[in-house]
This record gives sequence, structure tokens and C-alpha cells, in this order.
Amino acid sequence: MANNTIKKVCVIGAGTMGAGIAAQVANAGIPVLLLDILPKEGDNRNAVAEGAVAKMLKTEPAPFMGKRAAKLVETGNIEDHLGKVAECDWVVEAIIERLDIKQDLYAKLEAVRTPGTAVSSNTSTIPLAQLTDGRSDAFKQDFLITHFFNPPRYMRLIEIVAGPHSNAETVARVSDFVDRKLGKSVVDAEDSPGFIANRVGTFWIQASVNAAFDLGVTVEEADEIGGRPMGVPKTGIFGLIDLIGIDLMPHLMKSLTSTLPADDPYVKIARSEKLIEDMIETGYTGRKGLGGFYRINREGGGKVMESKDLKSGEYRAAARPGLVRGPAAKGDLGALIEAPGKVGAYAWAVLGPTLAYAASIVPEATKSVVGVDDAMKLGYNWKMGPFEMIDRIGAAKLREKLEASDIPVPAILQQVGDQTFYRIENGKRQYFGTDGAYHDVERAEGVLLLEDIKLASEPLMKNSSAALWDVGDGVVALEFTGKMNALDGEVMKLIQKAIPLVKSDYKALVVYNEGSNFSAGANLGLALFALNIAAWSEVEKSIRGGQDAYKALKYAPFPVVSAPFGLALGGGCEILLNSDAIQAHAETYTGLVETGVGIIPGWGGCGEMLSRWADNPRQPKGPMPAVSKVFEIVSTATVAKSAAEAKDVGFLRHTDQITMNRDRLLHDAKQRALAMVDGYEAPEKPEYRLPGPTGKAALDLAVDSFHKQGKATDHDVTVAGELAYVLSGGDTDMIDTVTEAQMLKLEVEAFMRLARNPKSQARVEHMLETGKPLRN
Ligand code: NAD
Repeated sequence: MANNTIKKVCVIGAGTMGAGIAAQVANAGIPVLLLDILPKEGDNRNAVAEGAVAKMLKTEPAPFMGKRAAKLVETGNIEDHLGKVAECDWVVEAIIERLDIKQDLYAKLEAVRTPGTAVSSNTSTIPLAQLTDGRSDAFKQDFLITHFFNPPRYMRLIEIVAGPHSNAETVARVSDFVDRKLGKSVVDAEDSPGFIANRVGTFWIQASVNAAFDLGVTVEEADEIGGRPMGVPKTGIFGLIDLIGIDLMPHLMKSLTSTLPADDPYVKIARSEKLIEDMIETGYTGRKGLGGFYRINREGGGKVMESKDLKSGEYRAAARPGLVRGPAAKGDLGALIEAPGKVGAYAWAVLGPTLAYAASIVPEATKSVVGVDDAMKLGYNWKMGPFEMIDRIGAAKLREKLEASDIPVPAILQQVGDQTFYRIENGKRQYFGTDGAYHDVERAEGVLLLEDIKLASEPLMKNSSAALWDVGDGVVALEFTGKMNALDGEVMKLIQKAIPLVKSDYKALVVYNEGSNFSAGANLGLALFALNIAAWSEVEKSIRGGQDAYKALKYAPFPVVSAPFGLALGGGCEILLNSDAIQAHAETYTGLVETGVGIIPGWGGCGEMLSRWADNPRQPKGPMPAVSKVFEIVSTATVAKSAAEAKDVGFLRHTDQITMNRDRLLHDAKQRALAMVDGYEAPEKPEYRLPGPTGKAALDLAVDSFHKQGKATDHDVTVAGELAYVLSGGDTDMIDTVTEAQMLKLEVEAFMRLARNPKSQARVEHMLETGKPLRN
């Protein structure tokens, strides 16, 4: 289904979800019509949808990946423009959660849509059978539920529910579109209340809050026990509720308790607390309100983190309890629930009922344990799904403890006996099915994961910071493996060792990994150590070593494709710049941020950026425009906030490609590399025409003016001066050419001067200590 037939989408309802879904469709480069009701006042009949787009342009984190995307959204209203639905291949309904209003809209849609146009609802709670009640068979065949999570650009989960009448082809077409084009991970859900993630998620939140009140555990203690040690986001439960809005809790509770049967375990634990009701009433709704379970008290000019005392309702200085220790702190869930005192008691009060509940909704809410685990990992950012957690604890141990706590043991937990829910068999991950047998965890066509490759093979080579894997079809993947995927001499050594191997035995190389980020750049800790002991020759060696490795990759006799995602900063950006092609995940945040730590790009980034801007057809000719542009980008440590933006900034070439779905990145990068194999020739070495000292003078003047306006610090001027020296080609002049080797030499010289400067060293130290740039 590579040629998806969805070419235009209509989203109805321009609220939080509808507007965000429309933006993500536009991010995929697909035109989208966004409709809403007529405004209560004013002459502009499209004001509601227009206002939603305008608001999104100012929202952070941004719903749009770039300005071009926003232009793909056409706005309108349902009174005047519903007829345009006939031009669309998929209509997403994301209006207010009311059955009568949704049904009324579908009746109108039925009259205007072209038969075969898919219609889906974003409902969180209303069963599909009720939504389509009264509609024709033809409508029912094209109808499904597509449940996105908020915010639609950033949350990867989408739950898809097909009804008994849904046409399998329509469901497949929409699923394929949301997967490949919108980058979402599809989890198939059954038509049951709350579907999967919100059902388990709401239970978990309620169980965690109840346990804190019942056991007299403080907000900070609850978050410390219920956050990191359980592999859930470090905000913990109360921090999370502050984030999503405390006022949302009664809504969640109402919608689930009204749709679930009275004997459902969630309905039994659902309860409200007077303290929470009072908080909502008085505007303490969390981060968006006056404060929440936590707040920052700025009284008297200070900045004190405070938390709510759940007994008295008063705020007091937040504590760092430091209760969880040993194996329990390191992800040993068995140790966590058995820990003495409060830790074990609270952990069990949360995990016991939550894991039992999660296990009880298979197969009612989704056919397999994998669906539950995926939904919680993708929709609630849990590190492990409930069944993966059960495997850590041990099913038998969990059963024993549940029985001792009088919590009914769900069928699948009985059935699994002493086995695990997941196992590795012949290099494949398998899950325990409701039929009592193990089945392979299937990946969709076009999904290739290093995680799977690792189960079935050993690396071709590896050291402490990198590894090389055979990813099939003659392609190898270079993986960074150091802490935070930092780049160091070991990575460079592995690159140099990999090149002859790929040359003799393989066809192409992709630079790829599955860490949280592609790479945040050079290992600053090592750099600081070298600077502190004034090991200048070591520092210089590491710069030259990086240059040599990256250039060796660039001129290797086989295609090199980099596949970044998440952060690709500093040296992590420079490896992209030295690749033949980039296949970037849409959510790639890349930039040359070296000036923030008082240095300049030293692994070839300066020259590569100049080449990109000099080759840019939209750029005026002559040396100065490219130099000025690159100077502006690098001196301000510009980070592109998406792959689309990275194209505009020139980190990506216009021929580079973007993958929307993270799970498809390796496959796409591999295909891109293979497509380049036939007739591959390494690039020619660039020669630059650069302005020399006159160009540097012009750049210095600009920086001087920022300095005078107080927008640049003293040391900014020094760092920018060195950058200007490199980018303008040192002592060259317009009639000479500067070779790549000369550019690299200029980078090293400037880098070393800055490295010896105590103010740059202070910047590195500050970054390591605080994670923030020092503006000295
Ligand atoms: P919202 O209140 O932000 O937006 C609802 C929009 O619907 C408003 O712009 C409103 O003007 C419009 N609307 C109301 N009546 C309409 C009508 N008759 N025709 C067309 N538009 C109409 O709500 P939301 O949070 O975006 O939720 C929309 C849907 O998505 C609901 O079904 C909700 O359950 C579901 N949902 C919400 C979230 C979430 O986190 N907010 C997550 C997943 C699903």
C-alpha cells in the first residue's frame, strides 16, 4: 500500500485535537480542510478554524513542523463548506464529545461525502456502535474510530477501532496513512469503553492518588516511588496530573464510570477527594492554573518549590525524600514491591491493582498483551508496558501477592503459569497469546528495528562507544552506544575500522541508533578533563581524529546515509553534514551548537555548511552571502526544530528525505543507501572561494553592533570572531581558492585558541554541571 490514495483530508472540529490533527496532516505535506462551527459573534464565518490555526502558530511545543505546513491548512465552517468534503478522501471528526452532536454531524456528512471516503471519529469514550446508529450500511462500512493522543504531533500512539461493518480495505487505508504519513504507531483496539491506554492510564492515576491519601504518603514520596523506579515519566503521578490539568480528573472519571459496567474494578476505585475538589474550585488546576500539587512560590522575590500537604491542604517547601534505594531504585520491580515500609507499601498499592487491571482487559480491549504494552509505552510514555513489568516481577510472585491482597487474578495471568509474557525464541521476540501459545511479535512491512536485529545476531565489531551491525542486504549500521550517545575517540576509531570492512564485504553504511537521541554531540566530560589538565596535544588529537574519521566516511567508496532522530547536535550534526545523504526522522532537532560552549564546530562542520549554502540555488551568488548565512546560523547556535526546518536552515539538503514514522527510519535509510550503490562515486573535494579578512571585518562589525546593544557578551564576541575567521577563509582573498584541507586546518587552529581560553572552559564546565549555556 505504498501509494496511499488519501490525497486530501478534512478535519471537523478545530479544538485541541482537531487543530493538532490537521497540523500533523499538513506536516506530512497533505492538504487539509479544517472546519468548525460559526463563531458566536462577528462577521468572519471562518473565525473559529482560522483562530485555531493562528493560535497554533504561537503554541510551544509547535504543532506545525514548519511554516510551509501551515499553508496547507484551508479553513472554513460546517455551514458553508461541508460540501467540500466531497473532495476529501478521509474525514476526521474531532468535535465536542457529545453523541447527539456527533450523530447529527454524521447525518449531514452522509449527504455530502463521496461513497468510499473514510470517516473516522476521534472520540475518547463513545462506542462505535452508538456513533453509527441510524446511518446507512454504506456509511457504516467506511466508518472507524481513530483515537489520537494529545498533542497529536508528538504523541506516537493512535488507537484504531473497526466496527463489525467496517470495510477492511477502508480501515487498512486509514491505518496505513496514519502510520506512514502521520508517523503514528497504530494499536488495534476493540470497541470497548476508553479503549486501551486511557482505560489503564486512568486506573493507574486513580490507584496512585488513592494510595497516597490512604497510606499517608506525601506528594513527593509518591512521585519518587511511583516515577522513575517504575519506569514511568519522572514527573511521577502528581507531577503528571499537574501537567495534564487537575480539572481533567473529574471529567476522565465521569466519562469512564458512565460507560463501564458497575462491577468494573475502575468503577470500584473511582472516588473524588475533597482536597482535590477544593483545588479545582479555587483555580489550583496545575501548571496552567495558580499551582497544583506542586508550585513555585515566588513570594519575596525567591523561587521555592513547594508541594501540597495532602492532609492539611497547605503548601510547604518540597522535600527530596530519597527513600528508594538499592535494586528497587534501578528498575527491580520485585524488590520495589517488597521494599520495607512506605516504599513497598505504596509501590504495591499502585502496581498490584494496576497490573491486574491491565491484564484483565485482554482480550476485551485489545486482542493481545502487545497491544496493552504498546499503548502504555506510546500513549503514556511508560518505559515498560504492564506485561513487561509483570515479567520483571514474575507472574507467579504477582499472583501470590494479588491473592494475599484479595485482588482477583485475571485469566491471562493464571494461564501464563510460571512462564513469561515475552520470550526470545530463535532470535525472535514472542508473546504469550490468549490461546496459550507463543507467537512472534510481528513488525509491519517496512519496519526494521536494530532492537530486533540485536536479538538475532552479534555486532560485526564494537568498542565502548560504538558498534557495527549487519542490517541485511549488504548494509551495515553504525550505532553510537556511549552514554547519551556522546561522540569520542572510540567512535572515531570504530569508523576507521569499519570502512575497510564495508569496502570489502558490504555495499553501504547507515549511521543509526535507537537511543533516546541520535547524539547530543562530543563527550564534553572527556573534553573538560583534557582542558583541566591542559592536555593540549590530546585535545588537538581528538579534533583531528574526528575530522579524519568523518572525512574518511565522506570519501569512502560506498554510500553513507545518516538517519538522525531527536537531538543531533554539534558533532552529531557534523556527521550528518559529512554523509552522502540524510534520511531524517521528522522529529529531528539538529544544529551546530558549539558556540554555546565557547568553541566552534571542529569536525568539518564549517566547510560542509559553506558548501551547502554555496550550492543553494535560492542563495545569491558570490562568496559573501553563503559566509554570512552560515555565520548567522552557527554563531547563534541555531537548532532546527524539525527535519523540515533543518532543510530550510541547510543542515539537510533539499534532496534529503524525511521519514514520519520512527519505526520506519532504519528501513528507509537502508533503502536510500541501496538506491545509491549502483555507479556510486565518492563526492569530489570541494574548493571554496572565500572573502578573507575583508569578509571577517564585515562579520565582526555585525557582532560589534550586537555587543553594543547588549545582545552579545564579551566572550560571544571572541567566539564569533574565531568563527568569522574560519568561515571567511583565514588570510585568503577572493581570487584564491581554499581547499577542504585548509578549511579543516583553520577549524583546528581556531578551535585550539578557544579551547585554551578560560572563558570557553567555564562554558564547558557550566554546561556539564547545569545542562544550560553560560552567557559569560
Ligand atoms: P475541544 O473542546 O478542544 O474542541 C471541540 C471543537 O468542536 C471546538 O472547536 C468546537 O467549536 C467544535 N464543535 C462543537 N460543536 C460542533 C459541531 N456541531 N460541529 C463542528 N464542530 C463543533 O475538544 P477536544 O479536546 O479537541 O476533543 C475533541 C474530540 O477528541 C472529542 O471527541 C474528545 O473526546 C476527543 N479526544 C480528546 C483528547 C484530548 O486530550 N483533549 C484526546 C483524544 C481524544
